[in-house]
Amino acid sequence: MAIVLCLPATLQAEPVARPAISPELEQKVIAWRRDIHQHPELSNREFRTAALVAEHLLALGMEVQTEIAHTGVVGILRGGKPGPVIALRADMDALPVTEQTDVPFRSTVIGEYRGNEVGVMHACGHDLHVAMLMGAAEYLAEHKQQVAGTVMFIFQPAEEGAPPGEEGGAELMLREGLFAELKPDAIFGIHVWGQAPVGVIGYRKGPLMASSDRFEIRVQGQQTHGSSPWAGVDPIVAAAQIINNVQTIVSRQINITRAPAVVSFGIVEGGVRNNIIPDEVYLEGTIRNFDMDIRQQIFRQLTQAAEASAHVTGATAEVSIIEGYPVTINSPELVAKMLPTTKDVAGEQMVHESPLVTGAEDFSYYALEVPGMFVFLGVAPPDKDPASMPANHSPFFYADERALKVGTNLFINWVFDYPGAG
Ligand SMILES: [Zn+2]
Ligand SMILES: [Zn+2]
Repeated sequence: MAIVLCLPATLQAEPVARPAISPELEQKVIAWRRDIHQHPELSNREFRTAALVAEHLLALGMEVQTEIAHTGVVGILRGGKPGPVIALRADMDALPVTEQTDVPFRSTVIGEYRGNEVGVMHACGHDLHVAMLMGAAEYLAEHKQQVAGTVMFIFQPAEEGAPPGEEGGAELMLREGLFAELKPDAIFGIHVWGQAPVGVIGYRKGPLMASSDRFEIRVQGQQTHGSSPWAGVDPIVAAAQIINNVQTIVSRQINITRAPAVVSFGIVEGGVRNNIIPDEVYLEGTIRNFDMDIRQQIFRQLTQAAEASAHVTGATAEVSIIEGYPVTINSPELVAKMLPTTKDVAGEQMVHESPLVTGAEDFSYYALEVPGMFVFLGVAPPDKDPASMPANHSPFFYADERALKVGTNLFINWVFDYPGAG
């Protein structure tokens, strides 16, 4: 995935004077980020990170809950004045990627992923997210008399997906009652982006990131000699029909004026030898959507297309759809309300509308419950062409740490400027 935010990177923009972290706190945020970067932990294994966060929030005098959805930590800050409940979210997990950068605090951690030994790296920048939210927590706790309402600091495990056989992430936190007692009026999240200039903010009203769902199709035929196909049922030809007919869903059946969609096959497996027609072919792929109704329509039509296409050839198709993250939908009203604050903090010329992104995020679950605003924060150094920088998840992923101050100040100012918080 690539985000294109065209703009000459100017860091010199003078933002309007407003709450901002001190140079000392900025140094602490940088130090936390480096420490977390050097000690990355895979999804649902964020034990050290969670302990670091919990200790910090407790030291700030917050009510702290731990072990939500395995390793999740939530801090509650009660402000000095009545007001709304604002949630701020950071994800904590790293990826099974062997770090190839040459930063002095690079990770040499080895972990276990799907039974294999793997390098572990914060290749999606969640180390920055945690550090920024720790910084915002410190600033807001120190200024809590000026804070109206309640701030909920959500440190979430397993955004990248729980290991096979486990549950995790935003969905599990919500199921365990994250919003049961204290339902936020709004939730904010930031994701760093390797291919946008440092300090640039990408925002979008409505859908921002796609839903991501997996499908599996088992095409059942009947084995026979390749020289006499009439003696069996050919699942390979059936699979070919399925692949072609499924491609007509997006091109012929979806109202593309509402939202784009993608259906891609990633696995086609079947057969062992040139002259044997096999019993079965296995297909697997991914579905991406920006509209929750179209998503349901594709689930239905994909199942129909596969079953009917197989049927025509005498084979059968069994379709399973494994739902992943829903569409990440920003509240248009919330984004409209908070855009002036965002521009004040980051600098007017640094804030751009983001294109749709076909990657997925489990921030989506929160944003289906309460109004949400999720933005991208560029981390490419200003002297580099952002498009040439490694994308998120690359072993070369690199973040210019000047972005940390921008992200931390954004969290702080969204809290102060949320309507009703003044
Ligand atoms: Zn990621
Ligand atoms: Zn991420």
